[in-house]
Amino acid sequence: MEEMISKNFIEQIIDKDIAEGKCPKVVTRFPPEPNGYLHIGHAKSIILNSGLAKKYGGTFNLRFDDTNPTKEKTEFVQSIVEDVKWLGADFGDEYLYASDYFDQMYECAIKLIKKGKAYVCDLTPEEIREYRGTLTEPGKNSPYRDRSVEENLALFEAMKNGEFPDGSKVLRAKIDMSAGNINMRDPIIYRIARMTHHNTGDKWCIYPMYDFAHPIEDAVEGVTHSICTLEFEDHRPLYDWVAIECGFKNSPDEAPKQIEFAKLYLTNVVTGKRYIKKLVEDGIVDGWDDPRLVSIAALKRRGFTPRAIRTFMEQVGVSKSQSSVDYAMLEYFIRDDLKLDCPRVAAILDPIKLVITNYPEGETEMVTVPNNQENPELGSREVPFSREVWIEREDFKIEKPRKYRRFYVGNEVRLMNAYFVTCTGYETDEDGNVTTIYGTYDPASKGGNSPDGRKVRGTIHWVNCETATEAEVRLYENIVDEEKGVYNEETGEMNINPNSIQVIEKAYIEPTVTSYKPGDSFQFLRTGFFVIDTKDTTEDKMVFNRIVSLKSSYKPQ
Ligand code: ATP
Ligand code: MG
Repeated sequence: MEEMISKNFIEQIIDKDIAEGKCPKVVTRFPPEPNGYLHIGHAKSIILNSGLAKKYGGTFNLRFDDTNPTKEKTEFVQSIVEDVKWLGADFGDEYLYASDYFDQMYECAIKLIKKGKAYVCDLTPEEIREYRGTLTEPGKNSPYRDRSVEENLALFEAMKNGEFPDGSKVLRAKIDMSAGNINMRDPIIYRIARMTHHNTGDKWCIYPMYDFAHPIEDAVEGVTHSICTLEFEDHRPLYDWVAIECGFKNSPDEAPKQIEFAKLYLTNVVTGKRYIKKLVEDGIVDGWDDPRLVSIAALKRRGFTPRAIRTFMEQVGVSKSQSSVDYAMLEYFIRDDLKLDCPRVAAILDPIKLVITNYPEGETEMVTVPNNQENPELGSREVPFSREVWIEREDFKIEKPRKYRRFYVGNEVRLMNAYFVTCTGYETDEDGNVTTIYGTYDPASKGGNSPDGRKVRGTIHWVNCETATEAEVRLYENIVDEEKGVYNEETGEMNINPNSIQVIEKAYIEPTVTSYKPGDSFQFLRTGFFVIDTKDTTEDKMVFNRIVSLKSSYKPQ
């Protein structure tokens, strides 16, 4: 009973179809156009479709919708396959191409012509538009609408054989020029275009239109539920018309069946292939995998995990109404996912040196540090400690603010897992910037434990100077200006956040991190979650990306 309540509307449709014997096996698909990299919106569709197939013991197809050869690139096919796999969607042994069905589509077109349901039309594109009518006025029949079956067959074959120039003729479905739904006013189903196709080369000079091709692709693959986004709702009658007239089903309620849901939008980020492409082409970001983007490649590089993305999608759910999801919600789930699994290490992003004057010069000792205070299963490690350590600049103040519990002259503070240290003084440069602070430690407080019950109120992290690893750390904020919104309403330009990336050239990190590899994630104590960058890390220099800070503005329900 409980399960019934939590089912989304698509699951309810599938349950009904199964109960009525309309689909012995559920088959879903994800049909990307290989004209760009996938983004978080696509991830929603992938997770939804592959998740339904899994839940119902069916199959999930990855099919490239490559019916439009102009913008398609093989480069994108590879990245899409990789991203779909990374998200954990199981599409079986191989992926598919819509272009593999060009022969079947051609056969379907012939079938429609023979049934008197399609005709070759010589109107120009402008005339076709004119004849189409408007939302309030019906269209007019094309003068070519009543060509005989024989004439249409001959002309369509001649179109295929390259006897007519590009754009001079089209094949149209013969439906109803006065239909209330403009998509049903004799839509074009084939056009002439001499373009080399990445898969079929120069075999074809006619290409099928999306609305005609898609139901055929679904039907050929035995797709039962063809799930797409809301903008295709008005195309559903045409989807059903093609599937029925081509003989794949008898009524709209049979498979393949189109079901629409609302696209996923996130606040303050750029979704939409077109806009991401623009940021890449204008050089505002460093490629499709720039960690400030929400392409899958970027999220991966940024240190997001497939598990966090899946949990996020489950929480967002599917619906029929358009809305934007708070980006902070996605951050909440990545934080939650990394919290217990990631080792926690010390990293100093804005360093200032602390010299412990009563600690023996030249000596180093090892202190034991838990790998994750909240998860004892991760064990512990030994970290070097000696006379000079780096601490965060903000952990020292000349003038003590109210309630400040960290270093100021005279105050005793715990160096995490090491010792109690009392601040005794500091040094500044000519400009008054603090350059070094001084302190004395209590040898009896080893491990950071109080020797006599006396309390210290502040605990700060540190990195041993001599053994610290120098690294570059990149802090990210959303690419668009949160205050202003994504687009400038007057100019249509994107409002880019000037602080979307901040590079810290020289941060000091405890040496433990050198044994990890690019792609590994950590919590930097008190700071946030970070991942070793897979693109710019070299033998000589580690680069870290901030995945997400520790603080959250999102509260789960
Ligand atoms: P974009 O709108 O970013 O240009 P697209 O829809 O043109 O994307 P396709 O490759 O044609 O990209 O889409 C593949 C599938 O992904 C389609 O079924 C589409 O409906 C779905 N999809 C695209 N964007 C989203 C989104 N924001 N949320 C959910 N599904 C999406
Ligand atoms: Mg598209």
